[in-house]
Amino acid sequence: MSTPDPNPHLSKSEFQQYGYALVDWLADYFENIGDRDVLPDVEPGDIRAMLPANAPEKPESMEAIISDLDEVVMPGMAHWQHPGWYAFFPSGVSPVSVLGEFVSAGLATQGMMWSTAPSATEIENTVLDWLVDLLGLPSSWRVDTGPGGGVLQMSASDSTHLSLAIARHHATLNGLETDSLVAYGSSQAHSSIEKGARIAGYKHIRSVPVDDSFAMDANALRDLIEEDLDSGLTPTWICSAVGTTSTTAMDPIREVASVAKKHGMWHHADAAYAGSAMICPEFRNLQDGVELVDSYTFNPHKWLLTNFDCSVFWVSDRSRLIDALSILPPYLKNETSGNPSAIDYRDWHVPLGRRFRALKLWFVLRSYGAENLRSFIRSHVDWAVDLEKKIVDDGRFEIVAPRTLALVCFRHLGGNEQTRELANSINASGSAYVTLSVIDEMAFIRVSIGSTWTQKHHVDSLWELIDGHADSL
Ligand code: PLP
Repeated sequence: MSTPDPNPHLSKSEFQQYGYALVDWLADYFENIGDRDVLPDVEPGDIRAMLPANAPEKPESMEAIISDLDEVVMPGMAHWQHPGWYAFFPSGVSPVSVLGEFVSAGLATQGMMWSTAPSATEIENTVLDWLVDLLGLPSSWRVDTGPGGGVLQMSASDSTHLSLAIARHHATLNGLETDSLVAYGSSQAHSSIEKGARIAGYKHIRSVPVDDSFAMDANALRDLIEEDLDSGLTPTWICSAVGTTSTTAMDPIREVASVAKKHGMWHHADAAYAGSAMICPEFRNLQDGVELVDSYTFNPHKWLLTNFDCSVFWVSDRSRLIDALSILPPYLKNETSGNPSAIDYRDWHVPLGRRFRALKLWFVLRSYGAENLRSFIRSHVDWAVDLEKKIVDDGRFEIVAPRTLALVCFRHLGGNEQTRELANSINASGSAYVTLSVIDEMAFIRVSIGSTWTQKHHVDSLWELIDGHADSL
């Protein structure tokens, strides 16, 4: 039997050698990504078929491991960072965010408590306080000045689930039966609303009708609430979408807030995509009334040059969050437990352990500066306006929903079949990828402009593709 290597780690010089090689690999990837097809040409099981059935018993060389990035990984990549990626919403990245992620991976700190990670904790709460101001949110959401505060989560779905759980906790503490609690979101709200409500134990989840712009109809909400009250149920939680997934429709936060206040409901705002745009003051009217909500989530990992995962969750009153989540077993008790200056983030989210996500966000905010982040967002919105104009001016298409930011939703006037064919032919081109969606049985194409490497000329090329393909329908 051979003896295992007593020091199997990469040596310092090997770590440097392969680390530099991987930076070079990624730098080339970023530079040349536009030469690849956006979508891979693989069938389910193709990638697995290239992998051995069992983990290696003997060490493999780093050369072999790195070369499999090209041999095994690349063939199965849908290139979210391709400049022709217009599908779903963007998945943010930037070279500086990758560097922040790299350092955070190496530090491998556990940010569950201030005492286990003072730097991670204080950089996180500082950066989230910065963002409160950068996004024009209420200053009372800053931990240093207000009763509120923010925490980084994996995803907007986690934030939404958490707000549902807090609302349920306080409702049941007040003597209400869980079975009577009702959660509301518009019929266009993201699926994470229903999922979060379901796993937080809500038996009643209402889908509120929307108006012509696909925003929540506040009168319909009032009617639903009255019906629920008449049935002996308790309206408990409501979500306002600040940018729905299908069309970036904006729910009327101020009106919803007055309904929520009247009935003592927890009001959550889901700005997963659109929140990043609030760094530009001219878009803040889209979330008029935001100072009235109890919680708010947005994803820097979508549109703020920060790689997944990085989702912010703010609450207007952190004591309600902490009261719902805090449990202090003896093994976690320490000399700073209960010290208000020493935030223990384990009390702010579901898991105990947490990674140093704030490092990459800190790198991004400092390296770009707010002015570059604003111009990044504004350029995407400008290109979307330009594309929308071309679509409107052309006689073959129609816009199906108001464009609020950098998402353009349109369809072929020929109908669903032509719209589907158009989307399929764009996606089969290899140079662009759009999402085909459906509302009320009407098929339409979503063009979401926001990838890090997308430039104006890419959007112009997309229009040429649309124009050319539409001719042959
Ligand atoms: N909410 C909205 C409006 C979204 O558009 C999305 C995803 O696109 C989500 C929530 C879910 O985000 P996450 O993947 O961070 O959970």
